[in-house]
Amino acid sequence: MEEQVVRPVPRAGVLAIDPYVPGKTKANGGHKLHKLSSNESPMGASPKALDAYRSLTELQFYPDGSAYELREAIGEVYGLNPERVLCGCGSDEVLSLLAYAYLSEGDEAIYTTHGFLVYKIAILAAGAKPVIAPEKDLTTDVDAILERVTEKTKMVFIANPNNPTGTYIPFDEVKRLHAGLPKSCILVLDAAYAEYVRRTDYQAGIEQVNDFENVVMTRTFSKAYGLPALRLGWAYGPEHIIDALNRIRGPFNMNSAAIAAGAAAVRDQAFIEQAISHNDKWLPWVVGELVKLGLDVTPSVGNFILIHFPEEQGKRAADADAYLLERGCVLRQVKAYGFDNALRMSIGSEEANKDVVAALTEFLK
Ligand SMILES: *Cc1c(COP(=O)(O)O)cnc(C)c1O
Repeated sequence: MEEQVVRPVPRAGVLAIDPYVPGKTKANGGHKLHKLSSNESPMGASPKALDAYRSLTELQFYPDGSAYELREAIGEVYGLNPERVLCGCGSDEVLSLLAYAYLSEGDEAIYTTHGFLVYKIAILAAGAKPVIAPEKDLTTDVDAILERVTEKTKMVFIANPNNPTGTYIPFDEVKRLHAGLPKSCILVLDAAYAEYVRRTDYQAGIEQVNDFENVVMTRTFSKAYGLPALRLGWAYGPEHIIDALNRIRGPFNMNSAAIAAGAAAVRDQAFIEQAISHNDKWLPWVVGELVKLGLDVTPSVGNFILIHFPEEQGKRAADADAYLLERGCVLRQVKAYGFDNALRMSIGSEEANKDVVAALTEFLK
């Protein structure tokens, strides 16, 4: 007789989640390593943020879980009411909190074909059903999203600009999307790369949050601010949503080092300007060089690009990835996002960018 093994079973959605695979951190050979796989900033963090981090000595005390000091600094710099800001352990945590607070079994949440992978994880973990809206030219298609809205739709996630495509939709389109959603559905505007966008028709979403009861904008310190190691993200939303998230977050979800460094970082906007200027200079340079090599690059407004490779044996993305790794350049394969023959490259230091271009020149010969 076969013995029945009885053991705890997670909720149905949990085992449907493909575990998230982070960017590689190591390359082969004796080459200098250029990690261009996770959209980190080649400029690092503000020296003021590092000072604040190092000055922390009283580790015996619990942090201020409400991150008051950080919310004050964010409020001051972005012109927001700190009561309507919630900080999280990376914006990943904020996205999960939104899903846990508002989604349950039987609900649906929409994101786009190449939307950020964390949305799917958060939706499934909350027991809800992910609904995928196709994109147009690798860009969020508002009509495709609206066509998929039903009475079960409780949340729509868009990354604007999106990762890994680097594309964005103008603010008019965001408004049109919002206008087509039921009032009971939350529009989550993930603006992780907002700092980098230099387009007059773009807005991160502050105005939408101010005007409506069902819009939340999320931001991060992991990209332009150069602080991913500290896990620091935040949401700006209507009071009632921030209140719900505050009820379910861990009472000490923010640590003291992150709070102190984040507050100093956000007050050092001169530093952020430098990081953005670096990107303004090198993003077009890298794209120009790769296009000269005959590669197809999706137009990006972020600090990374999606490079498409030829459908030719030995010249595909996986081959290029291996070739680059041998030369110390770590890019990101994006199969998990549905791109079989593309690599995502974060814009790096001058040296890193030049090394990638030189290596790809050799590779394509
Ligand atoms: C990097 C990224 C984030 C930021 O995640 P953190 O948890 O704050 O590090 C959020 N959304 C998108 C689309 C990203 O690419």
